[in-house]
Amino acid sequence: MVLYSASDITAAGADPSSAALLHGTPASRGIAFGRITFLKREAAPAPKRQVADAAAEQERFEKARTAAIAQLGQLYGASLEKLGEQNAVVFQIHQMMLDDPDYVQQINALIADEQCNAEYAVETVARRFAEIFEHMDNDYMRGRAADVMDVSRRVISILQLEQGVASPHQIKKYGDEPLILATDDLAPSETVQLDKDQVVGILTSAGSTRSHTVIFARTMGIPAVICMGDPLNESLEGAFVIVDGASGQVYVDPDEALIKSFKERKRNEDALRARLELFRGKETRTLSGRQIHLYANIGSADDIELVKAADAEGVGLFRSEYIYLQAKDFPSEEEQFQIYRDAARDLEGRKLIIRTLDIGADKTADYFMLKHEENPAMGMRAVRICLSRPEIFKTQLRALLRASVYGNLAIMFPMITAVDEVKSCLEKLDECRAELKAAGIPYKDDLEVGIMIETPAAALISDELAPLVDFFSIGTNDLTQFTLAVDRQNAEVGRFLNPYHHAVKKLIRMTVENAHQAGIWAGVCGELAADEGFTHELISLGVDEISVAPSSVLMLRARIATLA
Ligand code: PEP
Ligand code: MG
Repeated sequence: MVLYSASDITAAGADPSSAALLHGTPASRGIAFGRITFLKREAAPAPKRQVADAAAEQERFEKARTAAIAQLGQLYGASLEKLGEQNAVVFQIHQMMLDDPDYVQQINALIADEQCNAEYAVETVARRFAEIFEHMDNDYMRGRAADVMDVSRRVISILQLEQGVASPHQIKKYGDEPLILATDDLAPSETVQLDKDQVVGILTSAGSTRSHTVIFARTMGIPAVICMGDPLNESLEGAFVIVDGASGQVYVDPDEALIKSFKERKRNEDALRARLELFRGKETRTLSGRQIHLYANIGSADDIELVKAADAEGVGLFRSEYIYLQAKDFPSEEEQFQIYRDAARDLEGRKLIIRTLDIGADKTADYFMLKHEENPAMGMRAVRICLSRPEIFKTQLRALLRASVYGNLAIMFPMITAVDEVKSCLEKLDECRAELKAAGIPYKDDLEVGIMIETPAAALISDELAPLVDFFSIGTNDLTQFTLAVDRQNAEVGRFLNPYHHAVKKLIRMTVENAHQAGIWAGVCGELAADEGFTHELISLGVDEISVAPSSVLMLRARIATLA
């Protein structure tokens, strides 16, 4: 293929291949072979929302408009060679539409006059324009009605992605061939809806290694390379590639020799995994015999099979917000009860720690109608939403309590920052217990209740929090973000997001010490837990439990077995 500039293509290292090589940031390990398919988004309907700050909303529109113009420029460049000037010109027409002063002015005016959200304003003005075009005598101008809707949908879907709202999307298939999904960026809600049997790899031009999208890809065992930049463009649609999720390299149109060498590597990795089988069915112990509980992180009840296949002792973190992200409306108590009950039952006595709803920040579903926030990671999220909308919280808590009789279930509250917050969560739990008792519905009285320590505040007052709960689980992803004031979603500051920072380690140590002082256990469920190079230090810090993606369980058990 001759679709890249010379700087995008380097020889494939020592591999005797003529394949074009693209680079990105390694995000989820593994090797995948498949055909690239670009995610085609259609904007979801854009309901009207009131906004407090119309100027900020106009700024959102301006950013999305600029991003759409840049995307169209890329598409023009890529299509020029592939489809010729005559066809590529449509993308230039789309760019001109987005620059049309009348279109831009009407959208800004609507936002200001009606104090409404940008998505709604773009859709409304686009319809106005489309209607005018449709009623023109000229055939060519009538054809522009579809264009103005198309280009406006592009802007709306950028706005929605920025809010974490998944747009309805299409994925082109290539017979039964495995697919490598390519896109600018993926919302966590889009990632969880991927069909794992079909999509075997993920490539994104943007992204961040600590984002939920990447965490979900790891949990699902899908190799991923992110931050690939402009070389990942739609001219690659349909290309056969090899994705190396460990090195961040993507080989386009590899020849037979390269395919053979990667198949060999995959076989070697499988053989390594086979050697890890020696650790199956064993407890996780250091050389000195100290036991560490080794659990798995999951997002959906479907992952229980992975937990068992991985031989984890149980589930250390069930991110229950997956259930909400996959739903079109609030999941009912009964729906949730069935999911938690089945998970608890299928784990056959193994521990199942379910984290209550951690929605907000990058994880949003539009039916929550969350307001646009300048800084959502530090805004209305997790227990802040749950405590201010108790009907949502209590629906989940009742479902969890009811499911508790079917297995070894524990509840964990996320994003804690204060003693009163924990007390309020526990009060809500008590209210649910009382309601169930009054209705004669059984629940387990002695179920364990813990909290996540993922804010510096929680770590610093962990001595006050420990007497209130049965365990701590340290979320190093958020703990690092908030301790170092580095946005985990922002790739540009990714190099400052250092989970090994002395400050983070100090907070981990303090949390573990305070837990032990109060006689409770402390674990780690952030991504740092799966970092083999850091396992020794985590264990020295005194952690009792480690919870990681299922694919890392046996590897960590083997690693721990070598530590003093
Ligand atoms: C964390 O913050 O470390 C964590 C485990 O939670 P999440 O990644 O879902 O925010
Ligand atoms: Mg977190």
